[in-house]
Amino acid sequence: MSTITNHLPTAELQALDAAHHMHPFTTNDELAAKGARIITRASGVYLTDSDGNEILDAMVSLWCVNLGYGKPEMGQVAARQMNELPYYNTFFQTSHVPAIALASKLAELAPGDLNHVFFAGSGSEANDTNLRMVRTYWAQKGQPEKSHIISRKNAYHGSSVGSGSLGGMTYIHEQGGMPIPGIHHIGQPDWWSEGGDQTPEAFGLARAQELEEKILELGAEKVAAFIGEPIQGAGGVVIPPSTYWPEIERICRKYDVLLIADEVICGFGRTGNWFGSQTVGISPDIMTIAKGLSSGYAPIGGSIVSDEIAAVMNACEFNHGYTYSGHPVCAAVALENLRIMEEEDLLGHIRNTAMPALHAALEKLGEHPLVGTVNVSGMMASLPLTPHKESRAKFASDGGTVGYMCREHCFANNLVMRHVGDRMIISPPLVITPEEIDVFAARATLALDATYKDLK
Ligand code: PLP
Repeated sequence: MSTITNHLPTAELQALDAAHHMHPFTTNDELAAKGARIITRASGVYLTDSDGNEILDAMVSLWCVNLGYGKPEMGQVAARQMNELPYYNTFFQTSHVPAIALASKLAELAPGDLNHVFFAGSGSEANDTNLRMVRTYWAQKGQPEKSHIISRKNAYHGSSVGSGSLGGMTYIHEQGGMPIPGIHHIGQPDWWSEGGDQTPEAFGLARAQELEEKILELGAEKVAAFIGEPIQGAGGVVIPPSTYWPEIERICRKYDVLLIADEVICGFGRTGNWFGSQTVGISPDIMTIAKGLSSGYAPIGGSIVSDEIAAVMNACEFNHGYTYSGHPVCAAVALENLRIMEEEDLLGHIRNTAMPALHAALEKLGEHPLVGTVNVSGMMASLPLTPHKESRAKFASDGGTVGYMCREHCFANNLVMRHVGDRMIISPPLVITPEEIDVFAARATLALDATYKDLK
């Protein structure tokens, strides 16, 4: 076999990919027929593919690369840490400086009394940790029956058996025997798709009150926790009405149910604050983190927990952990990511420059005849496509056919926008400039126009 490098022709790379590589969330036979798009390098907001196309990444891959691609400091820190201490574990009463420093930094950044971090390698692993942690917490407090967890339909919390069960996506549940027992799903606060004739405020309140109904149905003494993304990402950037989160928090407090905010997408600036919980005004007991923690440069996630939870958990041996919990190279890279965010005042850039430019561009895209509305919070947005704006109608195909067409037109115009059903999803690098946002808007308009034309 020849050495496989960037220099091989695209068709050869695609054939090898199809022969040996099973892709996540992909019909691999379909991909083999079409050939994978092969990304060879990236810099700033642009990807380069194996045919030399320069593609603006308005999804930062999978909502990860907040700093943009190719920050040299990140590679330098990784190399330094590789040479100094490439790996050591954090089990059995040992620790190392990168994990200590990152946990301390996260305790400083996280709101309230969220001062303790349990590291994982990904968001899925961190949510598996949460599942076991909240059950163990209540058991330690003498209430082992307080073990049920309530989540939402169409939530995404990962794809391991535990985190996939916490999530509320039926197409995930259908494979592999999920959800596992003890996990329940209430309605999501998606007014655009499900709000009918109600005002967003009334709908938000009604959806939050489903939590109270579910707690009363199960018995509060049986409910350990509620988990939710402050803003659902993979579900289609669902921005809850303003009435939703305050009511959820009130209900959690009333029934002594722990509140877990899954910040895997919303964390680290995506919504214009360090954490999405701050944007929606809640004080969770646990936050799940990953993705933007390292800007995706290294795989790392974790759970940041309150003083109260840590005090209870620290009194027992929690028989849980991952070989790569707090991996020194990943921790060093995450720490460097946070250092750069602070030193370059990324939050200031988002609030004063990127957000106003992005929101103005989206408002304009919202005038397109195909775009029903603009859902946006900070630097995450979705544009639901519709045949009729006023009635919020869905396309007859309502399974993502039109969204898929639009995504393909985005690719053809050197733009990455993802589709969730018939919603186009936008999550650009947080470092994006107004000029780059103009490029995004111009390419998105071409893709929307081409989709509109196809539908005629
Ligand atoms: N939680 C949320 C909100 C996510 O969006 C994701 C991934 O998209 C996860 C958890 C799972 O993270 P990972 O893919 O790192 O396991």
